[in-house]
Amino acid sequence: SFEPLASDFYGYENLLDDQEKQHIAVLRSYLETEVKPIVNDHWNRAEFPHQIVKGLADVRVIGLPWEETRPFENSAVFRGWVALELARVDAGVATYVGVQNGLAMGAVGLTGSAEQRAEWLPRLASGEIVGAFGLTEPLSGSDSAQGLRTTARRDGDNWVINGSKRWIGNATFSDMTVIWAKSEEDGQVKGFIVPTATEGYSATKIEGKFSLRSVQNADITLENVVVPESLRLQNANTFTDTAKVLRETRAEVAWAAVGVAIGAYEAALEYAGQRIQFGKPISSHQLVQDLLVKCIGNITASIGMVARVSQMLDDGIQRDEHSALAKAYATARMRETVAWSREILGGNGIVLDYDVARFFADAEALYSYEGTREMNTLIVGRAITGHSAFV
Ligand code: FAD
Repeated sequence: SFEPLASDFYGYENLLDDQEKQHIAVLRSYLETEVKPIVNDHWNRAEFPHQIVKGLADVRVIGLPWEETRPFENSAVFRGWVALELARVDAGVATYVGVQNGLAMGAVGLTGSAEQRAEWLPRLASGEIVGAFGLTEPLSGSDSAQGLRTTARRDGDNWVINGSKRWIGNATFSDMTVIWAKSEEDGQVKGFIVPTATEGYSATKIEGKFSLRSVQNADITLENVVVPESLRLQNANTFTDTAKVLRETRAEVAWAAVGVAIGAYEAALEYAGQRIQFGKPISSHQLVQDLLVKCIGNITASIGMVARVSQMLDDGIQRDEHSALAKAYATARMRETVAWSREILGGNGIVLDYDVARFFADAEALYSYEGTREMNTLIVGRAITGHSAFV
């Protein structure tokens, strides 16, 4: 049964209905027994725990928003809470789900035709296939709205794609990757479902990461990759359509950032209760309490913000600047929280066994992906001043 989290200090869980709480309880138990015990080892070896692809599909956390795949009708707060629970155990697992569920399925769900949704969403939700989302390029990160070099040329009933992508999550083992490319016809960004077995497509793992080590990010090369028009996402006509996908996933990254902060804080709180210095638990020293209280303050403020931004999605009033502010704010608070948590553990704060070091390192990737703090700040800045300061 569902137990309230002590780290949800103001009881935001009460925004969830009973069915949603029950689903969270099942997920928590799966994560506790099957995922938590293996994450440090996979992080250390920089390997992805492939067994969770099926496991996460079985606990029904993939495909939650879509009529074709959802276990029951649910709220955006619930879906955000799922991201929180995943990240509270491991940011790498939350990122895998964010890519499969939010980015790959989000692209198909939000910009695909009814036929494309029917063909791809159920297979992605069941874990039969893994998806990836290829927007970023070696020469285009923050400026991908205008700077993409990858091109798509129409050739009869087909498209021919050429270019390269960088940082693409899950892409070392994905079965399909959504590739965003500039159409040579109208100069606009279009999306293509590219089966990874297609000739001319290749992906190689980015080695040597110190953040999100278990997540497999790839450099992708596309050399005269031919895909039929039926695999072009039918409702992705300009970058504004791509941005619709990012608006929703940014809000979920903000939820995941809260989860990372909670994971680190909970580990630090437990440690502080057990570690004795100067004859008493360090949690009874005033300065340690100050750190813990700053952590719970950050977590509580962030949950309030991400919960509201999800409600705005359900109410049909969420705009780009709303999710951008949540992503920028929650990831900045996360970064402070993991640093304070790591401080509480002293030397053990940099040892993998105590979990906090993993949260500390992984936070860096969440801070930068799905729009850096600066990019999300500029989205909000444009909305509140009327001046675009990107260029
Ligand atoms: P750059 O764009 O080169 O930026 C470098 C710095 O300059 C940043 O601090 C940035 O904020 C700043 N900057 C740039 N322009 C301005 C400006 N106008 N004003 C002020 N500051 C500016 N991409 C995908 O498509 N799919 C994925 O699955 C994916 N997964 C990822 C997973 C990880 C672990 C990481 C690290 C990245 C992933 N990305 C993915 C890419 C990610 O979205 C980009 O890293 C991000 O958008 C930033 O781009 P960049 O790294 O090229 O940095």
